[in-house]
Amino acid sequence: MNIYGQKLEDLQTYFKEIGGKPFNANQVYDWLYKKRVNSFDEMTNIKKEVIQKLKEDFSMDKPKIIAKQSGKDVYKYLFELQDGNKVEAVLMIHNYGISICVSTQVGCNMGCIFCESGRLKKVRNLMAHEIVGQILEVEKDLNLRISHVVIMGIGEPFDNYDNVMDFIKIINSGKGIDIGARHITVSTCGIVPKIRQFTEENLQVNLAISLHAPDDKLRSSIMKINKAYPLEELMDAIREYSSKTNRRITFEYIMLKDINDTKECALKLAKLLKGLNCYVNLIPYNETSYIDLEKSSLETRMKFYDILKKHGIGVTVRKEFGGDVSAACGQLRSNYEEAK
Ligand code: SAH
Repeated sequence: MNIYGQKLEDLQTYFKEIGGKPFNANQVYDWLYKKRVNSFDEMTNIKKEVIQKLKEDFSMDKPKIIAKQSGKDVYKYLFELQDGNKVEAVLMIHNYGISICVSTQVGCNMGCIFCESGRLKKVRNLMAHEIVGQILEVEKDLNLRISHVVIMGIGEPFDNYDNVMDFIKIINSGKGIDIGARHITVSTCGIVPKIRQFTEENLQVNLAISLHAPDDKLRSSIMKINKAYPLEELMDAIREYSSKTNRRITFEYIMLKDINDTKECALKLAKLLKGLNCYVNLIPYNETSYIDLEKSSLETRMKFYDILKKHGIGVTVRKEFGGDVSAACGQLRSNYEEAK
């Protein structure tokens, strides 16, 4: 077992089982996440026998940083996992805080045509500790503390549901890294049964939906998942989430030139989302060398924005990060693999 994959309650159960004290779990969390020690031996307020047992039962391995690039307010990391697989994380400095975008799978099976991450099919899910480790290693490298976490790196989080939920509980724990639930956002391409399950978790975590198209024909042509869960089913699940949690939903909408950026698309989108407690995040498409798609012009993006606004839909335009370091969405990994 890896120590960074243990929820506080898991450690409490563990200590009960080995005849330790429940507060040992709090002590371990304190050493790991507040004091950030790198070995069990440094946990000096825990009894020697207990330390010995911890050493036998847990590893403290973390993903290893093997490449790093930086641009204005952005740092991009490539990690190597214990088995040699590679994933990415991106740190962004905003005026409201510091966010990290973490990966949840090696590769991705969702097959969205515009996405670099999916060019490598899913090799495996990340374990919770491998997602936690991305945060710890980036914080250590830059000597700072992250305030916001977006689960939008390589992989589909709801295709790795249990590990992602464990990850959220670990980083959300007040005894640990202590990232507030409202500062955590999980993004999905639209796996409906998991959206329903997530609704029942009763968490204050934000939900983002990668929508990218306002009708089934277009959406199915760019996102394979829409064939399994068409818009009507997706919107049903979202409405239920919205009414049960009262939380505002984010819709991500990448602007792809001449594909989903027309006036007609904007009008359809406004109609689709009317009355829902939500906002649309218009994302400039990050062009990649391996995929033949272009981003919409600023003018087209602004027209789209205006139409949504005029129809009463909350809308923001996402700031562009990392284009200068080819840091967009799975590109560091594929550039690295391609260059080898
Ligand atoms: N699988 C999840 C989370 C990872 S992708 C999801 O689909 O939501 C995170 C976001 O980045 C998604 O909205 C995805 O559609 C978007 N994305 C993928 N490739 C992109 C690119 N080249 N430029 C901009 N956004 C991209």
